[in-house]
Amino acid sequence: MQQLRFTSEQIVWQEVPGEVSLAFLFSGCLLRCRGCHSADSWKAGLGSVLTEDYLQSRLSRYRGLISCVLFMGGEWLPEPLERLLVAVTRAGLKTCLYTGLERDELEAQSGCFIPHLTYLKTGRWMPEQGGLDSPTTNQRFIHVPSGDVLNHLFIREAAPAPARKRVIPLVQPGDSAFRSGVLQAA
Ligand code: SF4
Repeated sequence: MQQLRFTSEQIVWQEVPGEVSLAFLFSGCLLRCRGCHSADSWKAGLGSVLTEDYLQSRLSRYRGLISCVLFMGGEWLPEPLERLLVAVTRAGLKTCLYTGLERDELEAQSGCFIPHLTYLKTGRWMPEQGGLDSPTTNQRFIHVPSGDVLNHLFIREAAPAPARKRVIPLVQPGDSAFRSGVLQAA
């Protein structure tokens, strides 16, 4: 039986807004997006098998710290991915999948695990359109139970320009402190 392998594991804060996520990047993505930031994980068979036992050990270790588990890829092996998602939901945590497929492609190819997802990011990486923080992106970040698209959570409001500060020198050229080269706090 084929199993999913991961090449990195980290705690992330920005990929799933409002959640602290334990993220696994699986090797073997087939989509070959131009400009992919994870091209070194394309080769299938890289990394370590993500067993349910290992996942459980990480969930125990991070209990109370994380609120979500994010799988980056893995939809190409739907049954193993479904088992991992079930383990996460049984632990009372939210789930998220980042895939380069569109939702209809995902449903046609490997939809069995979709009911176990809280969040789903769809769409290939297209550099000219940008990622989830771009208004022109082709990607969608979806809350699966409601079907709501939550891309707006990634787009920061432009910060107001900082007010210009008036600089008040500590000493003036005519001051005795200036002449003596000694700066004294008031
Ligand atoms: S879907 Fe993601 S990991 Fe796969 S090639 Fe595209 S950008 Fe890379």
